[in-house]
Amino acid sequence: LTRKRIHIGRRTGKIGFLGKGMTLPSREKSEVVSALALRIDEDLISLNEADLDRCRTDMPLVPGRMRSLFSRRPAAVVRPGSAKCVADVIDTCIEEKTVVVPRGGGTAGLGGATAVRGGVIIDVSGMNQVLGLDKERMCATVEAGCSWQALKHELAGAGLRLRSYPLSAPQSTVGGWMSTGGYGIGTLGAGCFHSQVEAMEVAVPSGLLVNAGPGDGRYAIGSLAGAEGQMGIITKLEVPVARMAERKCYRLLRLASDRDGAEVLKVLANTEKPPFALMMLNRSLSEALRDLNGLPTGGSPMIIVADEGDAGDADRLDGLLKEVAPAGRFELDDGEDARILWDARFSYLGARPGRTVLLTGEALVRPSDLHSLLEPEGSPSSRQSGLLHLCQVVDRDTVLVMTGLVREPVEGADLVRDVVRTSRFAASVAARGGRPYGIGLWNSRFARIVLGERFKNLKLIKSETDRIHILNPGKFFSLTTNTGWPVWGPFFNLILGLAGRP
Ligand SMILES: Cc1cc2nc3c(=O)[nH]c(=O)nc-3n(C[C@H](O)[C@H](O)[C@H](O)COP(=O)(O)OP(=O)(O)OC[C@H]3O[C@@H](n4cnc5c(N)ncnc54)[C@H](O)[C@@H]3O)c2cc1C
Repeated sequence: LTRKRIHIGRRTGKIGFLGKGMTLPSREKSEVVSALALRIDEDLISLNEADLDRCRTDMPLVPGRMRSLFSRRPAAVVRPGSAKCVADVIDTCIEEKTVVVPRGGGTAGLGGATAVRGGVIIDVSGMNQVLGLDKERMCATVEAGCSWQALKHELAGAGLRLRSYPLSAPQSTVGGWMSTGGYGIGTLGAGCFHSQVEAMEVAVPSGLLVNAGPGDGRYAIGSLAGAEGQMGIITKLEVPVARMAERKCYRLLRLASDRDGAEVLKVLANTEKPPFALMMLNRSLSEALRDLNGLPTGGSPMIIVADEGDAGDADRLDGLLKEVAPAGRFELDDGEDARILWDARFSYLGARPGRTVLLTGEALVRPSDLHSLLEPEGSPSSRQSGLLHLCQVVDRDTVLVMTGLVREPVEGADLVRDVVRTSRFAASVAARGGRPYGIGLWNSRFARIVLGERFKNLKLIKSETDRIHILNPGKFFSLTTNTGWPVWGPFFNLILGLAGRP
Protein backbone atom coordinates (compact mmCIF):
# COMPACT_ATOMS: atom_id res chain seq x y z
CA LEU A 1 0.00 0.00 0.00
CA THR A 2 2.82 2.39 0.75
CA ARG A 3 3.84 2.22 -2.88
CA LYS A 4 0.36 3.20 -4.00
CA ARG A 5 -1.15 6.56 -4.58
CA ILE A 6 -4.65 7.82 -4.82
CA HIS A 7 -5.59 10.16 -7.61
CA ILE A 8 -8.89 12.02 -7.59
CA GLY A 9 -10.00 13.14 -11.05
CA ARG A 10 -10.14 16.92 -11.23
CA ARG A 11 -13.57 17.15 -12.79
CA THR A 12 -15.24 13.80 -12.31
CA GLY A 13 -14.14 13.34 -8.70
CA LYS A 14 -13.58 9.71 -9.67
CA ILE A 15 -11.03 7.99 -7.47
CA GLY A 16 -8.20 6.14 -9.15
CA PHE A 17 -5.94 3.79 -7.18
CA LEU A 18 -2.56 4.01 -8.81
CA GLY A 19 -0.10 1.23 -8.08
CA LYS A 20 3.61 1.36 -8.85
CA GLY A 21 3.24 -1.63 -11.13
CA MET A 22 0.81 0.22 -13.36
CA THR A 23 2.83 0.27 -16.48
CA LEU A 24 0.44 -0.94 -19.14
CA PRO A 25 -2.86 0.37 -20.35
CA SER A 26 -5.10 -1.77 -18.17
CA ARG A 27 -8.52 -0.70 -19.39
CA GLU A 28 -10.12 -1.72 -22.64
CA LYS A 29 -9.37 0.71 -25.45
CA SER A 30 -13.06 1.46 -25.88
CA GLU A 31 -13.34 2.48 -22.20
CA VAL A 32 -10.47 4.93 -22.57
CA VAL A 33 -11.97 6.44 -25.69
CA SER A 34 -15.41 6.73 -24.07
CA ALA A 35 -13.88 8.41 -21.02
CA LEU A 36 -12.01 10.87 -23.25
CA ALA A 37 -15.15 11.61 -25.23
CA LEU A 38 -16.89 12.62 -21.98
CA ARG A 39 -14.14 15.11 -21.19
CA ILE A 40 -13.12 16.66 -24.52
CA ASP A 41 -14.64 17.44 -27.91
CA GLU A 42 -15.04 14.13 -29.78
CA ASP A 43 -13.75 15.70 -32.99
CA LEU A 44 -10.33 15.96 -31.36
CA ILE A 45 -10.07 12.18 -30.95
CA SER A 46 -8.88 10.20 -33.95
CA LEU A 47 -9.31 6.45 -34.26
CA ASN A 48 -8.31 6.53 -37.90
CA GLU A 49 -6.16 3.47 -38.74
CA ALA A 50 -3.54 5.50 -40.63
CA ASP A 51 -3.20 7.93 -37.71
CA LEU A 52 -2.81 5.12 -35.19
CA ASP A 53 -0.23 3.32 -37.35
CA ARG A 54 1.75 6.50 -38.00
CA CYS A 55 2.31 6.86 -34.25
CA ARG A 56 3.95 3.44 -33.99
CA THR A 57 7.09 4.96 -35.45
CA ASP A 58 8.70 8.32 -36.13
CA MET A 59 10.96 7.25 -39.00
CA PRO A 60 10.73 4.59 -41.69
CA LEU A 61 14.06 3.25 -40.40
CA VAL A 62 12.62 0.70 -37.97
CA PRO A 63 12.06 -2.77 -39.46
CA GLY A 64 8.64 -4.38 -39.08
CA ARG A 65 9.71 -7.05 -36.60
CA MET A 66 11.39 -4.54 -34.31
CA ARG A 67 8.36 -2.30 -34.56
CA SER A 68 6.21 -5.15 -33.32
CA LEU A 69 8.51 -5.65 -30.31
CA PHE A 70 8.94 -2.00 -29.38
CA SER A 71 5.62 -0.40 -30.20
CA ARG A 72 1.89 -0.87 -29.90
CA ARG A 73 -0.96 0.65 -31.71
CA PRO A 74 -2.22 3.50 -29.54
CA ALA A 75 -5.85 3.46 -28.38
CA ALA A 76 -6.36 6.92 -29.85
CA VAL A 77 -4.57 9.97 -31.18
CA VAL A 78 -5.83 13.18 -29.58
CA ARG A 79 -5.22 16.57 -31.17
CA PRO A 80 -5.90 19.08 -28.40
CA GLY A 81 -6.78 22.65 -29.28
CA SER A 82 -5.73 24.15 -25.94
CA ALA A 83 -3.47 23.64 -22.94
CA LYS A 84 -6.50 22.90 -20.75
CA CYS A 85 -7.47 20.12 -23.11
CA VAL A 86 -3.96 18.58 -22.77
CA ALA A 87 -4.31 18.66 -18.97
CA ASP A 88 -7.82 17.12 -19.21
CA VAL A 89 -6.50 14.27 -21.37
CA ILE A 90 -3.72 13.53 -18.86
CA ASP A 91 -6.21 13.66 -15.97
CA THR A 92 -8.54 11.25 -17.77
CA CYS A 93 -5.68 8.90 -18.62
CA ILE A 94 -4.62 8.78 -14.97
CA GLU A 95 -8.15 7.78 -14.00
CA GLU A 96 -8.24 5.23 -16.78
CA LYS A 97 -4.73 3.95 -16.04
CA THR A 98 -3.60 4.58 -19.59
CA VAL A 99 -0.25 5.94 -20.66
CA VAL A 100 0.20 9.21 -22.56
CA VAL A 101 2.83 10.01 -25.19
CA PRO A 102 3.39 13.57 -26.46
CA ARG A 103 4.21 13.99 -30.14
CA GLY A 104 5.17 17.08 -32.14
CA GLY A 105 6.31 16.82 -35.76
CA GLY A 106 7.63 13.26 -35.23
CA THR A 107 11.02 14.19 -36.76
CA ALA A 108 13.36 13.27 -33.90
CA GLY A 109 13.75 9.73 -35.24
CA LEU A 110 14.87 7.96 -32.06
CA GLY A 111 11.44 6.56 -31.17
CA GLY A 112 10.76 9.14 -28.42
CA ALA A 113 7.37 10.11 -29.82
CA THR A 114 6.16 6.56 -30.45
CA ALA A 115 3.68 4.49 -28.46
CA VAL A 116 5.87 1.73 -26.98
CA ARG A 117 3.05 0.55 -24.69
CA GLY A 118 0.10 1.85 -26.69
CA GLY A 119 -2.06 4.31 -24.73
CA VAL A 120 -3.02 7.77 -25.93
CA ILE A 121 -0.86 9.90 -28.22
CA ILE A 122 -1.22 13.63 -27.63
CA ASP A 123 -0.38 15.19 -30.97
CA VAL A 124 0.35 18.82 -30.11
CA SER A 125 0.79 19.91 -33.72
CA GLY A 126 -2.79 21.27 -33.71
CA MET A 127 -1.78 23.81 -31.04
CA ASN A 128 0.09 25.93 -33.51
CA GLN A 129 -0.83 29.56 -32.88
CA VAL A 130 1.51 32.48 -32.36
CA LEU A 131 -0.26 34.08 -29.39
CA GLY A 132 1.67 37.35 -29.23
CA LEU A 133 4.78 39.30 -30.18
CA ASP A 134 6.47 41.54 -27.64
CA LYS A 135 8.84 43.89 -29.45
CA GLU A 136 10.07 45.45 -26.22
CA ARG A 137 11.13 42.17 -24.65
CA MET A 138 11.92 40.76 -28.12
CA CYS A 139 10.03 37.52 -27.61
CA ALA A 140 7.14 35.64 -29.18
CA THR A 141 4.61 33.67 -27.15
CA VAL A 142 3.76 30.53 -29.11
CA GLU A 143 1.82 27.32 -28.63
CA ALA A 144 4.14 24.32 -28.42
CA GLY A 145 2.86 22.69 -31.62
CA CYS A 146 3.76 25.68 -33.82
CA SER A 147 6.25 24.64 -36.51
CA TRP A 148 9.46 26.64 -36.85
CA GLN A 149 8.62 27.46 -40.43
CA ALA A 150 5.20 28.87 -39.46
CA LEU A 151 6.76 30.96 -36.69
CA LYS A 152 9.41 32.26 -39.10
CA HIS A 153 6.71 33.46 -41.53
CA GLU A 154 4.70 35.12 -38.76
CA LEU A 155 7.81 36.93 -37.48
CA ALA A 156 8.83 38.09 -40.96
CA GLY A 157 5.49 39.94 -41.24
CA ALA A 158 6.46 41.94 -38.14
CA GLY A 159 10.05 42.65 -39.24
CA LEU A 160 11.45 40.03 -36.86
CA ARG A 161 13.37 36.74 -37.27
CA LEU A 162 14.28 33.59 -35.37
CA ARG A 163 17.49 33.65 -33.37
CA SER A 164 17.94 29.91 -33.84
CA TYR A 165 16.14 26.87 -35.27
CA PRO A 166 16.76 23.20 -36.14
CA LEU A 167 17.47 21.95 -39.65
CA SER A 168 14.11 20.15 -39.51
CA ALA A 169 12.31 23.53 -39.24
CA PRO A 170 9.70 22.87 -41.95
CA GLN A 171 8.22 19.90 -40.01
CA SER A 172 9.38 20.08 -36.39
CA THR A 173 7.66 22.01 -33.62
CA VAL A 174 8.91 24.60 -31.15
CA GLY A 175 7.93 22.36 -28.20
CA GLY A 176 9.63 19.38 -29.85
CA TRP A 177 13.01 21.22 -30.04
CA MET A 178 12.65 22.35 -26.41
CA SER A 179 12.00 18.72 -25.47
CA THR A 180 15.00 17.40 -27.41
CA GLY A 181 18.52 18.70 -28.00
CA GLY A 182 17.95 22.41 -28.70
CA TYR A 183 21.12 22.82 -30.81
CA GLY A 184 21.09 23.92 -34.43
CA ILE A 185 21.36 26.91 -36.76
CA GLY A 186 22.08 30.13 -34.84
CA THR A 187 22.92 28.51 -31.48
CA LEU A 188 26.62 29.23 -32.08
CA GLY A 189 25.87 32.87 -31.21
CA ALA A 190 22.55 32.67 -29.32
CA GLY A 191 23.29 29.59 -27.16
CA CYS A 192 21.33 26.35 -26.87
CA PHE A 193 17.56 26.92 -27.28
CA HIS A 194 17.06 25.52 -23.75
CA SER A 195 19.07 28.39 -22.29
CA GLN A 196 17.23 31.03 -24.35
CA VAL A 197 13.71 30.23 -23.11
CA GLU A 198 12.78 31.86 -19.81
CA ALA A 199 9.11 30.96 -19.45
CA MET A 200 6.86 28.13 -20.52
CA GLU A 201 3.61 26.42 -19.59
CA VAL A 202 3.54 22.68 -19.02
CA ALA A 203 0.88 20.05 -18.32
CA VAL A 204 2.44 17.80 -15.66
CA PRO A 205 1.66 14.14 -14.91
CA SER A 206 -0.81 15.02 -12.15
CA GLY A 207 -3.07 16.56 -14.79
CA LEU A 208 -2.34 20.18 -13.77
CA LEU A 209 -0.97 23.10 -15.77
CA VAL A 210 2.11 24.81 -14.29
CA ASN A 211 4.23 27.79 -15.29
CA ALA A 212 7.89 26.82 -15.50
CA GLY A 213 10.67 29.34 -15.01
CA PRO A 214 14.47 29.15 -14.78
CA GLY A 215 16.11 26.66 -12.38
CA ASP A 216 16.29 22.89 -12.08
CA GLY A 217 13.56 22.12 -9.54
CA ARG A 218 10.60 19.82 -10.13
CA TYR A 219 8.74 21.99 -12.60
CA ALA A 220 11.57 24.29 -13.69
CA ILE A 221 12.89 24.70 -17.22
CA GLY A 222 16.16 22.95 -16.34
CA SER A 223 14.23 19.73 -15.64
CA LEU A 224 11.83 19.96 -18.55
CA ALA A 225 14.24 21.00 -21.31
CA GLY A 226 15.51 18.04 -23.30
CA ALA A 227 13.44 15.61 -21.19
CA GLU A 228 11.69 14.19 -24.27
CA GLY A 229 8.19 14.26 -22.78
CA GLN A 230 9.09 12.36 -19.59
CA MET A 231 8.33 15.14 -17.10
CA GLY A 232 5.44 16.99 -18.68
CA ILE A 233 3.89 18.16 -21.93
CA ILE A 234 4.94 21.65 -22.95
CA THR A 235 1.94 23.66 -24.11
CA LYS A 236 3.26 27.23 -24.49
CA LEU A 237 6.68 28.94 -24.65
CA GLU A 238 8.22 32.38 -24.85
CA VAL A 239 10.70 32.25 -27.73
CA PRO A 240 13.37 34.99 -27.94
CA VAL A 241 13.47 36.67 -31.36
CA ALA A 242 15.68 39.22 -33.16
CA ARG A 243 15.20 42.12 -35.55
CA MET A 244 15.20 41.18 -39.24
CA ALA A 245 18.80 40.79 -40.45
CA GLU A 246 20.19 43.79 -42.29
CA ARG A 247 23.35 41.96 -43.29
CA LYS A 248 23.17 38.61 -45.06
CA CYS A 249 26.31 37.09 -46.40
CA TYR A 250 26.99 33.49 -47.52
CA ARG A 251 30.27 31.85 -48.48
CA LEU A 252 31.40 28.37 -49.52
CA LEU A 253 34.76 26.92 -48.67
CA ARG A 254 35.49 24.04 -51.06
CA LEU A 255 37.92 21.70 -49.37
CA ALA A 256 40.51 19.15 -50.43
CA SER A 257 39.58 16.62 -47.73
CA ASP A 258 37.23 15.99 -44.81
CA ARG A 259 40.23 16.31 -42.52
CA ASP A 260 40.98 19.84 -43.79
CA GLY A 261 37.33 20.69 -43.19
CA ALA A 262 37.53 19.55 -39.58
CA GLU A 263 40.62 21.74 -39.04
CA VAL A 264 39.09 24.87 -40.61
CA LEU A 265 35.83 24.37 -38.70
CA LYS A 266 37.74 24.19 -35.42
CA VAL A 267 39.50 27.50 -36.06
CA LEU A 268 36.33 29.26 -37.31
CA ALA A 269 34.37 28.13 -34.23
CA ASN A 270 36.90 29.83 -31.99
CA THR A 271 37.09 33.23 -33.62
CA GLU A 272 36.09 36.15 -31.40
CA LYS A 273 32.78 36.82 -33.13
CA PRO A 274 31.76 33.60 -34.87
CA PRO A 275 29.31 33.76 -37.78
CA PHE A 276 25.57 33.01 -37.49
CA ALA A 277 25.93 29.48 -38.86
CA LEU A 278 28.79 27.17 -39.78
CA MET A 279 28.31 23.73 -41.25
CA MET A 280 30.37 21.22 -43.10
CA LEU A 281 29.25 18.57 -45.59
CA ASN A 282 31.60 15.61 -45.85
CA ARG A 283 32.57 14.26 -49.25
CA SER A 284 29.92 11.50 -49.28
CA LEU A 285 27.12 13.95 -48.47
CA SER A 286 28.41 16.45 -51.00
CA GLU A 287 28.43 13.74 -53.70
CA ALA A 288 24.93 12.57 -52.72
CA LEU A 289 23.52 16.10 -52.88
CA ARG A 290 25.10 16.63 -56.31
CA ASP A 291 23.87 13.30 -57.70
CA LEU A 292 20.44 13.05 -56.05
CA ASN A 293 19.37 16.68 -55.64
CA GLY A 294 21.28 18.36 -58.46
CA LEU A 295 22.83 20.84 -56.00
CA PRO A 296 26.01 22.68 -57.07
CA THR A 297 28.33 21.06 -54.52
CA GLY A 298 30.83 19.81 -57.10
CA GLY A 299 31.11 16.64 -54.98
CA SER A 300 33.91 17.97 -52.78
CA PRO A 301 33.76 18.39 -49.00
CA MET A 302 32.69 21.92 -48.14
CA ILE A 303 31.95 24.37 -45.37
CA ILE A 304 28.96 26.69 -45.66
CA VAL A 305 29.34 29.92 -43.71
CA ALA A 306 26.34 32.19 -43.13
CA ASP A 307 26.60 35.59 -41.55
CA GLU A 308 23.29 37.24 -40.74
CA GLY A 309 22.76 40.11 -38.36
CA ASP A 310 22.75 43.87 -37.93
CA ALA A 311 24.26 46.12 -40.58
CA GLY A 312 27.72 47.35 -39.76
CA ASP A 313 30.83 45.69 -40.96
CA ALA A 314 29.75 44.15 -44.26
CA ASP A 315 33.25 42.81 -44.97
CA ARG A 316 33.46 41.11 -41.59
CA LEU A 317 32.99 37.60 -42.97
CA ASP A 318 35.72 37.87 -45.61
CA GLY A 319 38.12 39.23 -43.01
CA LEU A 320 37.31 36.25 -40.84
CA LEU A 321 37.91 33.78 -43.66
CA LYS A 322 41.31 35.33 -44.45
CA GLU A 323 42.23 34.81 -40.81
CA VAL A 324 41.53 31.07 -40.94
CA ALA A 325 43.12 30.44 -44.35
CA PRO A 326 46.32 28.90 -42.93
CA ALA A 327 44.30 26.24 -41.04
CA GLY A 328 43.61 24.09 -44.09
CA ARG A 329 43.39 24.06 -47.85
CA PHE A 330 40.21 25.55 -49.27
CA GLU A 331 38.97 27.43 -52.28
CA LEU A 332 36.72 30.38 -51.44
CA ASP A 333 33.49 30.61 -53.44
CA ASP A 334 31.52 33.81 -52.89
CA GLY A 335 29.20 33.33 -55.87
CA GLU A 336 25.57 32.31 -56.27
CA ASP A 337 26.26 28.65 -55.29
CA ALA A 338 26.69 29.64 -51.65
CA ARG A 339 23.23 31.19 -51.61
CA ILE A 340 21.68 28.20 -53.42
CA LEU A 341 23.18 25.72 -50.98
CA TRP A 342 22.14 27.79 -47.96
CA ASP A 343 18.55 28.00 -49.26
CA ALA A 344 18.51 24.20 -49.71
CA ARG A 345 19.75 23.49 -46.17
CA PHE A 346 16.50 21.90 -44.96
CA SER A 347 16.66 19.23 -47.66
CA TYR A 348 20.14 17.84 -46.94
CA LEU A 349 19.03 14.94 -44.74
CA GLY A 350 15.48 13.99 -45.51
CA ALA A 351 13.38 11.54 -47.42
CA ARG A 352 13.24 11.90 -51.19
CA PRO A 353 11.09 10.01 -53.66
CA GLY A 354 12.66 6.84 -55.02
CA ARG A 355 15.88 6.95 -53.08
CA THR A 356 16.09 8.07 -49.54
CA VAL A 357 18.67 9.95 -47.56
CA LEU A 358 18.02 8.78 -44.04
CA LEU A 359 19.14 10.54 -40.92
CA THR A 360 20.37 7.61 -38.87
CA GLY A 361 22.13 9.17 -35.91
CA GLU A 362 23.27 12.42 -34.30
CA ALA A 363 26.10 13.13 -31.88
CA LEU A 364 27.85 15.98 -30.12
CA VAL A 365 31.64 16.02 -30.31
CA ARG A 366 34.43 18.48 -29.53
CA PRO A 367 35.73 20.28 -32.65
CA SER A 368 39.18 18.80 -31.97
CA ASP A 369 37.75 15.25 -32.10
CA LEU A 370 35.81 15.72 -35.32
CA HIS A 371 38.49 14.48 -37.71
CA SER A 372 38.97 11.23 -35.78
CA LEU A 373 35.24 10.57 -35.98
CA LEU A 374 35.08 11.29 -39.70
CA GLU A 375 38.23 9.36 -40.50
CA PRO A 376 38.76 6.88 -37.64
CA GLU A 377 42.13 5.17 -37.59
CA GLY A 378 41.88 1.44 -38.24
CA SER A 379 38.20 1.65 -39.28
CA PRO A 380 36.71 2.51 -42.64
CA SER A 381 36.59 6.27 -43.23
CA SER A 382 33.20 7.86 -43.88
CA ARG A 383 34.14 7.82 -47.58
CA GLN A 384 34.63 4.05 -47.55
CA SER A 385 31.60 3.34 -45.35
CA GLY A 386 29.40 5.68 -47.38
CA LEU A 387 28.20 7.49 -44.25
CA LEU A 388 26.97 11.01 -44.94
CA HIS A 389 27.94 13.58 -42.32
CA LEU A 390 26.54 17.04 -41.80
CA CYS A 391 28.54 18.81 -39.09
CA GLN A 392 27.05 21.97 -37.57
CA VAL A 393 29.13 24.00 -35.12
CA VAL A 394 26.50 24.62 -32.44
CA ASP A 395 28.68 26.27 -29.82
CA ARG A 396 32.39 27.02 -29.54
CA ASP A 397 33.15 23.65 -27.99
CA THR A 398 30.58 21.51 -29.74
CA VAL A 399 29.88 20.16 -33.20
CA LEU A 400 26.56 18.45 -33.89
CA VAL A 401 27.34 15.61 -36.28
CA MET A 402 24.30 14.32 -38.15
CA THR A 403 24.77 11.03 -39.92
CA GLY A 404 22.81 9.64 -42.83
CA LEU A 405 22.80 6.97 -45.51
CA VAL A 406 21.64 6.84 -49.09
CA ARG A 407 19.21 3.97 -49.37
CA GLU A 408 16.88 2.48 -51.90
CA PRO A 409 13.61 1.80 -50.04
CA VAL A 410 14.59 -1.23 -47.96
CA GLU A 411 13.08 -3.55 -45.40
CA GLY A 412 14.23 -6.46 -43.25
CA ALA A 413 17.90 -7.28 -42.87
CA ASP A 414 19.24 -4.14 -44.58
CA LEU A 415 17.19 -1.96 -42.33
CA VAL A 416 18.44 -3.80 -39.25
CA ARG A 417 22.01 -3.31 -40.44
CA ASP A 418 21.26 0.43 -40.55
CA VAL A 419 19.96 0.36 -36.98
CA VAL A 420 23.08 -1.56 -35.93
CA ARG A 421 25.27 0.94 -37.75
CA THR A 422 23.53 3.81 -35.95
CA SER A 423 24.04 2.03 -32.67
CA ARG A 424 27.76 1.51 -33.45
CA PHE A 425 28.08 5.17 -34.42
CA ALA A 426 26.64 6.18 -31.02
CA ALA A 427 29.06 3.80 -29.28
CA SER A 428 32.08 5.11 -31.22
CA VAL A 429 31.11 8.69 -30.38
CA ALA A 430 30.86 7.77 -26.71
CA ALA A 431 34.30 6.08 -26.91
CA ARG A 432 35.80 9.36 -28.19
CA GLY A 433 34.42 11.37 -25.28
CA GLY A 434 31.45 12.67 -27.28
CA ARG A 435 27.76 12.17 -26.57
CA PRO A 436 25.03 10.64 -28.69
CA TYR A 437 22.45 13.37 -29.30
CA GLY A 438 19.04 12.46 -27.95
CA ILE A 439 17.79 9.35 -26.19
CA GLY A 440 14.31 8.20 -27.25
CA LEU A 441 14.09 4.43 -27.56
CA TRP A 442 17.20 3.55 -29.50
CA ASN A 443 19.70 5.51 -27.37
CA SER A 444 18.15 4.61 -24.00
CA ARG A 445 21.27 2.54 -23.31
CA PHE A 446 23.32 5.73 -23.51
CA ALA A 447 21.02 7.87 -21.32
CA ARG A 448 23.63 8.30 -18.57
CA ILE A 449 26.21 9.52 -21.08
CA VAL A 450 23.75 11.80 -22.89
CA LEU A 451 22.42 13.39 -19.69
CA GLY A 452 25.68 13.37 -17.70
CA GLU A 453 25.19 14.90 -14.26
CA ARG A 454 21.51 15.62 -14.98
CA PHE A 455 20.66 11.91 -15.11
CA LYS A 456 20.32 11.36 -11.33
CA ASN A 457 18.34 14.54 -10.73
CA LEU A 458 15.93 13.88 -13.57
CA LYS A 459 15.38 10.29 -12.47
CA LEU A 460 14.60 11.47 -8.95
CA ILE A 461 12.17 14.12 -10.18
CA LYS A 462 10.52 11.58 -12.48
CA SER A 463 10.01 9.14 -9.60
CA GLU A 464 8.48 11.90 -7.45
CA THR A 465 6.22 13.52 -10.02
CA ASP A 466 5.23 10.53 -12.18
CA ARG A 467 5.29 7.54 -9.86
CA ILE A 468 3.13 5.42 -12.10
CA HIS A 469 5.16 6.32 -15.18
CA ILE A 470 2.16 7.51 -17.10
CA LEU A 471 4.20 9.80 -19.34
CA ASN A 472 6.03 8.21 -22.24
CA PRO A 473 7.10 4.88 -20.65
CA GLY A 474 9.37 2.16 -22.03
CA LYS A 475 12.26 4.42 -23.11
CA PHE A 476 14.67 7.16 -22.00
CA PHE A 477 15.38 6.00 -18.41
CA SER A 478 15.03 2.30 -19.20
CA LEU A 479 14.36 0.47 -22.42
CA THR A 480 11.52 -2.03 -22.35
CA THR A 481 9.60 -4.00 -24.95
CA ASN A 482 5.93 -3.28 -25.52
CA THR A 483 5.04 -5.83 -22.84
CA GLY A 484 7.17 -4.10 -20.24
CA TRP A 485 10.19 -6.46 -20.29
CA PRO A 486 13.43 -4.61 -19.56
CA VAL A 487 16.00 -4.86 -22.35
CA TRP A 488 19.73 -4.81 -21.51
CA GLY A 489 22.48 -3.94 -24.00
CA PRO A 490 23.58 -7.46 -25.11
CA PHE A 491 19.94 -8.56 -25.27
CA PHE A 492 19.18 -5.54 -27.47
CA ASN A 493 21.92 -6.62 -29.88
CA LEU A 494 20.49 -10.15 -29.90
CA ILE A 495 17.04 -8.80 -30.72
CA LEU A 496 18.56 -6.76 -33.54
CA GLY A 497 20.25 -9.88 -34.89
CA LEU A 498 17.07 -11.98 -34.75
CA ALA A 499 14.92 -9.23 -36.23
CA GLY A 500 17.34 -8.98 -39.14
CA ARG A 501 17.07 -12.61 -40.19
CA PRO A 502 15.31 -13.03 -43.49
C1 LIG B 1 16.24 16.41 -41.59
C2 LIG B 1 16.36 16.56 -40.10
C3 LIG B 1 17.11 17.61 -39.57
C4 LIG B 1 17.23 17.76 -38.19
N1 LIG B 1 17.97 18.81 -37.69
C5 LIG B 1 18.08 18.97 -36.36
C6 LIG B 1 18.85 20.06 -35.82
O1 LIG B 1 19.42 20.88 -36.54
N2 LIG B 1 18.94 20.16 -34.48
C7 LIG B 1 18.29 19.29 -33.64
O2 LIG B 1 18.37 19.46 -32.43
N3 LIG B 1 17.58 18.26 -34.13
C8 LIG B 1 17.45 18.08 -35.45
N4 LIG B 1 16.71 17.05 -35.95
C9 LIG B 1 16.02 16.15 -35.01
C10 LIG B 1 14.56 16.64 -34.73
O3 LIG B 1 14.03 17.21 -35.87
C11 LIG B 1 14.51 17.67 -33.62
O4 LIG B 1 14.86 17.05 -32.40
C12 LIG B 1 13.14 18.34 -33.47
O5 LIG B 1 13.28 19.46 -32.65
C13 LIG B 1 12.07 17.43 -32.91
O6 LIG B 1 10.84 18.14 -32.94
P1 LIG B 1 9.47 17.41 -33.25
O7 LIG B 1 8.38 18.42 -33.12
O8 LIG B 1 9.52 16.68 -34.53
O9 LIG B 1 9.41 16.40 -32.02
P2 LIG B 1 9.00 14.84 -32.03
O10 LIG B 1 9.91 14.06 -32.89
O11 LIG B 1 7.54 14.74 -32.28
O12 LIG B 1 9.25 14.49 -30.49
C14 LIG B 1 10.57 14.38 -29.98
C15 LIG B 1 10.49 14.08 -28.47
O13 LIG B 1 9.95 15.19 -27.77
C16 LIG B 1 8.73 14.84 -27.12
N5 LIG B 1 7.82 15.97 -27.33
C17 LIG B 1 7.39 16.48 -28.52
N6 LIG B 1 6.61 17.55 -28.30
C18 LIG B 1 6.56 17.72 -26.95
C19 LIG B 1 5.91 18.67 -26.09
N7 LIG B 1 5.17 19.66 -26.56
N8 LIG B 1 6.10 18.54 -24.75
C20 LIG B 1 6.86 17.53 -24.23
N9 LIG B 1 7.47 16.62 -24.99
C21 LIG B 1 7.33 16.72 -26.33
C22 LIG B 1 8.26 13.54 -27.77
O14 LIG B 1 7.53 12.73 -26.86
C23 LIG B 1 9.58 12.89 -28.15
O15 LIG B 1 10.12 12.20 -27.05
C24 LIG B 1 16.59 16.86 -37.32
C25 LIG B 1 15.82 15.81 -37.85
C26 LIG B 1 15.70 15.66 -39.23
C27 LIG B 1 14.88 14.53 -39.77
